[in-house]
Amino acid sequence: MPAPTDRVLSIVDELAHEAVAFTADLIRIPTVNPPGELYDECARVIGRQLEAFDFAVEYHAAEGRAEHTAAHPRVNVIGTRPGRHARPLVHLNGHIDVVPAGAGWTKDPFGGEVSDGKIWGRGSCDMKAGIAAAVFAAEAIRRAGIELNGTVEISGTVDEESGGFAGVAWLAQQRRLSAGRTDFAIIPEPLYVDRICIGHRGVYWFEVETTGRIAHGSMPFHGVNAIEHMGVVLDRIERELVPKLRARTTGMPVIPVEARHATLNVNGISGGQPVDGIQTPCVADRCRAVFDRRFLAEEGFDETKAEIVALLEQVARDTPGFNYSIKDLMIVHPTQTPDGSPVVSALDRALHRVLGRSGGLVASPGTYDQKHFARLAGVPHCVAYGPGILDLAHQPDEYCNIEDLVNSTKVIALAILELTGP
Ligand SMILES: [Zn+2]
Repeated sequence: MPAPTDRVLSIVDELAHEAVAFTADLIRIPTVNPPGELYDECARVIGRQLEAFDFAVEYHAAEGRAEHTAAHPRVNVIGTRPGRHARPLVHLNGHIDVVPAGAGWTKDPFGGEVSDGKIWGRGSCDMKAGIAAAVFAAEAIRRAGIELNGTVEISGTVDEESGGFAGVAWLAQQRRLSAGRTDFAIIPEPLYVDRICIGHRGVYWFEVETTGRIAHGSMPFHGVNAIEHMGVVLDRIERELVPKLRARTTGMPVIPVEARHATLNVNGISGGQPVDGIQTPCVADRCRAVFDRRFLAEEGFDETKAEIVALLEQVARDTPGFNYSIKDLMIVHPTQTPDGSPVVSALDRALHRVLGRSGGLVASPGTYDQKHFARLAGVPHCVAYGPGILDLAHQPDEYCNIEDLVNSTKVIALAILELTGP
């Protein structure tokens, strides 16, 4: 009689074709965000699969959230399969939304094509293969006839790509995800099959508006051009702030290594007359730009914002007629799994068993739902681990290697067994 863990691993191999087909089925539901298409359909496909695998399934629509509308309902699904006890409880969470396909594809982004050992399509890597890995890891344990000591939960949640406020954050605010019932969380985001992701940098999205004075475009000296003043801001950022940010390095193991430094991106800019409209000779009296500043745990949010305000104040002193305002759009604090967390050691041991190696700990350049588990649900023992190559996320011709899906399913299954096993 083979050891229970050996049985589980060979059952994952037997289930591989089902996991691939399930991933492809999910890709064929274009859950594009924005605006948040077909969430209900996708949640129900996941829910039906979980029911077939002995989970008790609940659907949670994000009542009260403005983005939960009749046209685009925000529906989350959670399946629970108790063992002998309610605790310890391992929660596996994947987001069901995908970003728009964009241009440059040679495959049908929503065709769910399986070829060359890969599953192709928008959301294959980020992160419908990850959801399949979670579902089939739990199923392999059941088919091996193992009754767990604790409980497994699997959720498919909405809107991660736009902040997760109607998804994981909402479930945490409803106390459906909470320290009172959830011990460990694994989010199978695509951070490479051999690595464990322990958190992410902070995010500060803000809008700067410059205001000038309208005048006739043939006599611009009678006005104040808000676009030119935004140009002064951008120039000052490029010459003075960006070199400072590049010189700062976090101790977190962020990948790619370029993202170990603080960064700033201009998301968008808009000022004066719409360029496609009929033009009149006017000095632009308004210009707005949105910025994406990624800050390090070592920097902190207050210092990050203060540095930007100080730069704008300096521009105001140096530039006659300069007027500005700044508005916070989104603040996400850095998140990191505690040292010595059992969820990290369980995954690390599983990686050595399945792959013969562990790529070690990494941190994500971008934020993901771990922040809501840690800060809103109060579940610090949370990591991201799943199949998929980070660099392919949000790209044309996104794919997930079937081999990675299978290996990651094995790793998650072994981690469940260690964290809540017999
Ligand atoms: Zn993702």
